[in-house]
Amino acid sequence: MSMPNQTFRTRVSEGLQDAYRRNVVGKVQDYFRAMRNNIFEELGNVEEWRERAAQIRSHTIENLDAYLEMFSENIQKNGGHVAFAADAAEANRYIQSVAKQHEVKTVVKSKSMVTEEIHLNGALEDIGVEVFETDLGEFIIQLDNDRPSHIVGPAMHKSKQQVAEIFSKKAGETLPADAQELGRFAREYLRDKFFRADMGITGCNFGVAESGSVVIVSNEGNVEMTSSLPRVHVVVMGMERLVPSWEELDVLISLLPRSATGQRTISYATAIHGPKRENDLDGPEEWHVVIVDNGRSKLLGTKYQQALNCIRCGNCSNVCPVYRHIGGHAYGGVYNGPIGAVITPLMENLPEWKELAFASSLCGACTEACPVKIPLHEYLIELRHDVTETSEDTWSERMVAHLFGTATAHPSLYEMGQKAARLPFLSSAAGPMKAWQENRDLPEPAKQTFRDWWRQHKGGER
Ligand code: SF4
Repeated sequence: MSMPNQTFRTRVSEGLQDAYRRNVVGKVQDYFRAMRNNIFEELGNVEEWRERAAQIRSHTIENLDAYLEMFSENIQKNGGHVAFAADAAEANRYIQSVAKQHEVKTVVKSKSMVTEEIHLNGALEDIGVEVFETDLGEFIIQLDNDRPSHIVGPAMHKSKQQVAEIFSKKAGETLPADAQELGRFAREYLRDKFFRADMGITGCNFGVAESGSVVIVSNEGNVEMTSSLPRVHVVVMGMERLVPSWEELDVLISLLPRSATGQRTISYATAIHGPKRENDLDGPEEWHVVIVDNGRSKLLGTKYQQALNCIRCGNCSNVCPVYRHIGGHAYGGVYNGPIGAVITPLMENLPEWKELAFASSLCGACTEACPVKIPLHEYLIELRHDVTETSEDTWSERMVAHLFGTATAHPSLYEMGQKAARLPFLSSAAGPMKAWQENRDLPEPAKQTFRDWWRQHKGGER
């Protein structure tokens, strides 16, 4: 990951001004929430499912070293190659070397946020390799030189008209803003790339330690083409994406589509166990699994370890009122929404990403929605605490908190403050509060305070 070139404030302000995006995000959130509620009601015992899933993830992360060893040994037994990459540069160097070794000219890619995180496309382009994203959303984003705005719906912020304009430029003719027609163009354009590609790169939803397999879920069928048509297949995965066995996978894969899009199941769950075997008709001749750390191990053994339990369903964004208003780009990193606000500062560095800890209303909706029970809003509170402890430029915030604490501890000061708040010149905020009020209404103080009402109606009674 790297720092965006705009400040957090500019990104938020742009997000707030994008009326189309705000409208569409609101509708998608409402739709997903309704779908999710129905589908979980049908599943029944939701809290038991969540508890089991949380236990599986916590157990795996607590024993990550052992499961990583088991996973990598089994991959090699299956005829695959494993590489551990400490950071983005190491991962990119390894994949570049595989590409060079096989004289790769064209790569097709599918389903991977980690490759966004490590800027793999740029690294491959640097050595003269053409890269084509094949998930429809990622394809749109790539053609428009944009960034994903949601973990599971990367192009959610684009209208049909915008997609038609983007595709028309590529097609060299005007395409109608019609979903069928646009889908047809993408299919035809990408089909040729699948057949031409020398290398396929995918992400990985889960790695199964007991068998050395990777499991990738999708709705479009392009994962199967990406992983089986080219001569070489490279899987790039975060080091935390493991499950001990197929039994635990069953639980997580039952929750993932339900939490992500409110679907009972996904269209495709592809399990890959190695390269093509002697009698196989298709599949890659060579199979590599690149396991990426890139800041993840910094969370191990800390109070934030549970953030590694995330299964990237995006449901925390689907319920977050802040995400609804500012949109995914405002978070600035690859991972947006509440989980992005938690893991980006932790995997990168807190001082540079400190504003993200404050991009939350702390309503707790994200924690309640998370299928693996990550205490997201509690982590955001912890991060705020860490920011104020470590950051020098939050002196004013500490002072405001201190003054508020003193005022509320002394009844006469508190009452004086309440009276002052009702003065006309304070009804619209000034100073540091002015920025806060730019996009929010300052609630009007009550005409009469509760204390005054009590005095008036109850006299001296206590
Ligand atoms: S934090 Fe929880 S809700 Fe958010 S993406 Fe991860 S698993 Fe899903």
